[in-house]
Amino acid sequence: PIALALPKKRASLQSNVVWGSRTVTVGGGAPVRIQSMTNTDTADAIGTAIQVKELALAGSELVRITVNTPEAAQAVPYVREQLDRMGIDVPLIGDFHFNGHRLLTDFPECAQALSKYRINPGNVGKGDKRDRQFGQMIEAAVRWNKPIRIGVNWGSLDQELLASMMDENSKRTVPWDAKPVMYEALITSALESAARAQEMGLPAHQIMLSCKVSGVQDLIAVYRELGRRCDYPLHLGLTEAGMGTKGTVASAAALAVLLQDGIGDTIRVSLTPAPGEARTQEVVIASEIIQALGLRTFVPSVTACPGCGRTTSTTFQELTKQIDDFLRAQMPVWRASYPGVENLKVAVMGCIVNGPGESKHADIGISLPGTGEAPAAPVFIDGEKRMTLRGDSIATDFQAVVENYIQQ
Ligand code: SF4
Repeated sequence: PIALALPKKRASLQSNVVWGSRTVTVGGGAPVRIQSMTNTDTADAIGTAIQVKELALAGSELVRITVNTPEAAQAVPYVREQLDRMGIDVPLIGDFHFNGHRLLTDFPECAQALSKYRINPGNVGKGDKRDRQFGQMIEAAVRWNKPIRIGVNWGSLDQELLASMMDENSKRTVPWDAKPVMYEALITSALESAARAQEMGLPAHQIMLSCKVSGVQDLIAVYRELGRRCDYPLHLGLTEAGMGTKGTVASAAALAVLLQDGIGDTIRVSLTPAPGEARTQEVVIASEIIQALGLRTFVPSVTACPGCGRTTSTTFQELTKQIDDFLRAQMPVWRASYPGVENLKVAVMGCIVNGPGESKHADIGISLPGTGEAPAAPVFIDGEKRMTLRGDSIATDFQAVVENYIQQ
C-alpha cells in the first residue's frame, strides 16, 4: 500500500522558555512552535503590550520585541506586567543588536522580565570587543537562566569572519563560488558562537540557532547543512520574505520543504504587512503552513472547490467565506468548550460533480446546486446524506447545521 510520507522530525535538544511558572518547550519532542515579532516601539509599553496580545491571540506561542534603547529596556518589565494583567500567556523574547551587552547589563529588570534573548553575532562588535560584548550577553543569560537564540542573518553576517573565509577560499586549488563560502560563513558564525556560549556555562539545550537568508533555495541549502551539523533546536524562517502573495508563497515554499525534512523547531513568517494589514497575518500564515503539512491542527479546515462554469451564483463563494470566517472567529471560545474541534473538516462545494464525494470525505459538507441541477443543496454529515437545504437562507441554515454538529 502507498503510505503517507509524514515528516520525521530531526532529533534536537529541548529548550525551556520560561516566564513565571509557565513554560513553552521548543525542540526535542515539542510540536513545531509558532512565533512572531512586534513592529511597535517597545518604549511604548502599552502599544507593544496590545500588539503582543493580538499576536498571542492569533496563535503566536512566543513573541519577540525589539530592545534597542535604554527607554525600550526600561519598558520591557511594564510590557510583561501589562500582559500578565490581561491574562496573556506568552513569553517575551528580547531582540538585541549592537548594544545588547549594555542593555542586558544596565537593566537587570529587563534581563529578568524577558524569557529569551536573541543575539546577532554579526553585530555584537569587532575584534576583541566582539568576544567581550558577546561574553557579556552570555553572562546575562547564565545569570538569569535564560535560553538564547543565536540568530545569524545574511544581511548582517560577521564581515570579519566572511572576509577570512573568502581569503581561505582563494587559497583553494579550485576555489568555491562565493555562495557556498557564504553558506559556510553563516553556519560557522552560528556554531562557533554556540560553542563559545557553552564554554561560558550556558547549557547546550538552552541555545537555539537560526541562519536566515531571503532566497528560498539558499535557505533550504543552509538549513539542511546546519541541521546535519548540530542538535541545537532550530528557529526557521525566510528573512525579508516581502509582502503579500510573494512573501506568503516564498515562505510557504521554503518552510514546507524544510519542515517536510523534519527541520525546524519553531518558525516565523517574516511578512511585510501591507499598509493597513494586520501584523497577525504572519501568524495565520505560519499556522496554515504547519497545518497544511499535517504537523499540527489549529482551526477546522474548509475544503472548497475553485468554482467554474457550472457554478450558478456567488452564493457558493459567499458561503465558503462565511463558514471559514465563522469557524475562525469561534475558535477562541470553542477551543475551551469542545476539545478537538480544530480537527473538524467542512466541505463547501459548487456542484454535484465533486460535491457529494468531497462532502463524504469531510465531517460535514454541502454541495450547492450547479448549472442545470435542481435548486437543492444536499448536506452530508459523517459521510451520510442527512438533509437538503433550499431557498435563500442556505448559508445561514448551513452555518446553524455546522454549529449544531460541533455542539453535539
Ligand atoms: Fe466546478 Fe463543480 Fe468542480 Fe466545483 S465541484 S469546480 S462547481 S465542477
